[in-house]
Parts: sequence; structure tokens; C-alpha cells
Amino acid sequence: MIYPMLKPATSNADLLLRSLSSVWHPCSQMKHYSDFPLVPIKRGKGVWLYDCDGKRYLDAVSSWWVNLFGHCNPRINAALQDQLETLEHVMLAGFSHEPVVQLSERLRALAPAGLGHCFYGSDGASAVEISLKMSAHYWRNQGHPEKSQFLSLQNSYHGETLGALSVTDVALFREAYGPLLRQQACVPSPDSRKAAPGESAEAYALRCAESLELHLQQHHAQLAAFIIEPLVQGAAGMAMYHPVYLTRAKALCEEYGVHLIADEIAVGMGRTGTLFACEQANISPDFLCLSKGITGGYLPLSVVMTLETIYQAFYDNELARGFLHSHSYTGNPLACRAALATLDIFEQDNVVEANRDKAILLNSMDLRAHPAVRNWRNTGMIWAFEVDSPHRDFSRRCAALALQHELLLRPMGNTVYFMPPYVINEQEMQLLACNTLKIIEALA
Ligand SMILES: *Cc1c(COP(=O)(O)O)cnc(C)c1O
Repeated sequence: MIYPMLKPATSNADLLLRSLSSVWHPCSQMKHYSDFPLVPIKRGKGVWLYDCDGKRYLDAVSSWWVNLFGHCNPRINAALQDQLETLEHVMLAGFSHEPVVQLSERLRALAPAGLGHCFYGSDGASAVEISLKMSAHYWRNQGHPEKSQFLSLQNSYHGETLGALSVTDVALFREAYGPLLRQQACVPSPDSRKAAPGESAEAYALRCAESLELHLQQHHAQLAAFIIEPLVQGAAGMAMYHPVYLTRAKALCEEYGVHLIADEIAVGMGRTGTLFACEQANISPDFLCLSKGITGGYLPLSVVMTLETIYQAFYDNELARGFLHSHSYTGNPLACRAALATLDIFEQDNVVEANRDKAILLNSMDLRAHPAVRNWRNTGMIWAFEVDSPHRDFSRRCAALALQHELLLRPMGNTVYFMPPYVINEQEMQLLACNTLKIIEALA
């Protein structure tokens, strides 16, 4: 018997109905989907997503910040097809394979100096867990088991598994899951919107670094690591800050014997205008976490890169001194191959350079001058601003209106941001800016 539900979706409405009855969607109040329907996507090409009725949407958020070179990119597709015919997966404990070795070697050559060892996970949160565990275990192996606490920034976001959530400072999550989490401290965010009137972003960042220093002075003996999103705190509403904060944070962490974990899950892979955000502060962290864009937005993969000194602290005859962590799909060959194809595109198309011109273009459009637009800001391929609007549910209204204007936007509160795939062209940027302007006029 053919089960009736196994039929392909015939229309938007059909797919929607079936999705709502069987799929529990992430980061959502399911009840809200009765007012603001889901968008059923059939296929993608470049910056565009197409629904089952053939309507198109410009993916201005790179499908949750993961897509770099467009949907169904021919070069990544070709690499994956080749890999599919060769090896789809093998476990990484006790085995190895060409894609994971090549990827590790290439990342080592590209990353800030000294990050020579790559440990793989499956998603961003698992990379954060790995870095936290590795840091604390390092101190334990060094005879300092008391160094087991972590420090993060106010409004930080590092993922939603329990360990990652314990270094995440988002009130909504903190309230619901607080009792399950180990309390960790936060220090003030160098978010340049918080600078005093007349104070430069740099001066404010330095002032925040003083708070960091005070905290480290008092608590370094218990602290394993300070974890930070370099240059842009994404989920905080694209809070951007001056790189001098990172330079100071690195120096202070070194002085007080605390690891620095750079969570570049969102900001790595060219997003901030350099391949890695840490480059702009000229620092090497002790741990660098990458995920999201690393496979071009194709497959789940994450990696934590670390230093020789940290690696050596685990190198021993005893199993218990080794790093005890694994995921079933660690270093999946398909995902590694997608990542290699992504790095090829960076090289072949000189992407980081080409993106600089795109930033200039979008910054020059009329949108930023609209009277309801505040705090226009840009770092690399991320643009954000706040909108003065009387609507309390601005973010949902804006997202819904965006769909009517061929745009996929996902505002965070009153913050609208663009984080488009790097393949976006001039015409598409114009459409993005013009249609966003119309939406803002309707909601301001
Ligand atoms: C998305 C994100 C994570 C978590 O990654 P997942 O793949 O969603 O688990 C962690 N840190 C930052 C900065 C992120 O943006």
C-alpha cells in the first residue's frame, strides 16, 4: 500500500499543511505560524530561493548565515558529486581520509599563526562544546583542575546545547533553561552603539577592556577561558565593535593565563571582510571555532583549531589525558569536500577583495538615509540598522512584508540586517535596498 502522505507536495498550501502537522520547527512558537505562514521552498539558485508556486525570494540572510556562494553552486555541486561516488563517510576514530587531511592542511595555512591542529564536530554548538571542554581539560592536565570556569561577553551567543548555552547571554533562553545551566560570568560588551555621546568606538572598546581586566584580575585563578565572537556579536542584533578590543583581550588573557576562544562560527570565512575576523586585530586565539559558512552552506561541519602547546598537553600514554570527545559524523568526507570546494572558490575568485566593492556599493544606497533608520553599520558582508517603528511585533511584520517584496529577511527585534551570499550582484543589491526601503516606509 502506498501511504497517502508520501506523495510529493503539489503546492505551497499542501506542503505547509503537512509541515505544520509533522515538523516541529526550530526557534519558533509553532502557534505563530497560523498568522505568519511558513515559506515552503522547492529549489534554490544563486541568491534566490523559489517556493512551490514559483515565487522567488532573495536570501538576504544566507539561510541563517551559512550560505556563501549561492544555492546550488555548480562548483560545490560538482565536488560533492565526485565525492559521492568515492566515499560518503567513514568514522574518524582510527581512520582517516583525503578530504579531512586536505582541509586540515589548508585551514592551517590560512588561519592565524600557530593554529595547527584541527578537531572536528558537526555544528556550531558542538564546536563551542569542544573548545570549552578542551580548554578545561588542558588546565586539568597541567595540574590546575580549579580552572574550570568560563567568561563571555554580555549579549553573547555561542549556541544552544547546554554547555554552549551556559556561555550565551540571551535573556529569553536564560530564563527558560537557566536551572539546567552552570552559571558563568559576563563582562560588558564593546558594542559601539553603547558608547557615551561623543565617545569613539575605539575609546569605548578600550573602556570595556578595562572591565575585562578587572574581572581577570579577580577571577583568573578559576577561569579556563574567555569566549568571544570577534568583531560582530551576531545574535545580539549584529552588535559591531572596534578590533582594539580583541587586541586587548588577547594581551590580557595571555597576561592572566586564561585561554581566548574565538567563536568565528558566524564571522569566519570572509564574512567580516577578512578571511578570519581575528586578522583585523592581528591576533591568534588559543582556539578558533568555525562552522556555518565553512561548507558554503551545504552540509553540517565544524572545526576547532588549536595550538601545538595545547595539543601537546594531551599527548600521553594515558587514554584519560587524551581529549575525550566524539560525534558520529566527525570529519564527514562529503562535508569536508564541500569545504574544500568553498576554499577553492575563495582562491579562484579572489572573493575577499571582490566583497570590498560590494560593501561600498550597498553603503552608498538611499536606504541608510531614511529618517526611521538608525545606527547604520557595516562590517564586511554584514549590514545592520535599527528601525523606529510603532509596531511592537515589528520583526514578524517586517519578515512577512519582506516576503511580499521578494526578500527573505529575519529582523531581530527592531534590528534589520543583511548578510547575503557573496555572489550577490549589483542589481540584486539594488533590489534588496529598494525593497527594504519600501518595507520600512510601510512600517515606520
Ligand atoms: C550559529 C552560531 C553558533 C551555533 O552554531 P549551530 O550550528 O547553530 O549550533 C555558535 N556561535 C555563533 C557565534 C553562532 O552564530
